[in-house]
Amino acid sequence: MNPSSTRAISTDHTPDWRLQADCRRPGYFGTDHWFPTGTKTRKDREQAADAKAICRECPVALHCATWALRRREEDGIAGGLDADQRRSIRRRVMKEQLSSEQTADVIRAAWAKDAQGPLVDTYLRSTRQGNDGHVWWRGLKSSYTVAGRVFTPRQLAFEVGHGRAPHGQVKSICGEQFCVAYEHLTDGVVHWQREHLATAS
Ligand code: SF4
Ligand SMILES: [Zn+2]
Repeated sequence: MNPSSTRAISTDHTPDWRLQADCRRPGYFGTDHWFPTGTKTRKDREQAADAKAICRECPVALHCATWALRRREEDGIAGGLDADQRRSIRRRVMKEQLSSEQTADVIRAAWAKDAQGPLVDTYLRSTRQGNDGHVWWRGLKSSYTVAGRVFTPRQLAFEVGHGRAPHGQVKSICGEQFCVAYEHLTDGVVHWQREHLATAS
C-alpha cells in the first residue's frame, strides 16, 4: 500500500494510521517509489529493496502489512512485502489457519529475510577468503550504504553472521585488524557473554 493511494480505506471507526506512514514523508508522498514497474531490471529491484527497507522502519508497518493481506492488495510494496510475498503469506495463513499473532510472526520473518539478503550479497561481493579463516574486505571505503542503512565493513559482516545489528563497537578478536570474518568479530553483547562465561567457569 501507499497511503497516498485513493484505494486506502479510512472510516470513523478506523484510526487513521496512514498519517504515521513513512511513505508520506516529503520526497516520497505521492510518488511511485512503492510501485516498481517490475522485478527484472536492477533499477526495479533496487527500488523495491529501498521501499521495503523504509517500510521495515515505518511505525505502522505491521498494521499496513496486515491491512494489505486482508485486502488482497495486488500492487506494489505494502508493509515491507511485495505482491509475491503477500500471496505466499496469505496462502500459508489460510492453509495453516494462523492466528493474528502467528501471522505477525510470519510477516516479521519475511522482513528479517529481506533485510539480510542485500547484506549477504554485499558481504560476498566485497570480501575474499584469506588463510587461517580470516576474511578480507576488498573495498577501500570506510562505510557502505545497503538497503538504506549505513554500515562499516565490520558492522555489515557482524550483522550477516549474527543475524542482528551490533550493540556498541565491533572489534576483531583474531589479532588481524582488517579481518571481517564474522566469527572473528565481537560487539558489546558477545564480549559481555564471553566475559560472563569466563567468570562463571
Ligand atoms: S509500511 Fe511501508 S507502505 Fe505501509 S505505511 Fe509504512 S512506509 Fe507506507
Ligand atoms: Zn580473522
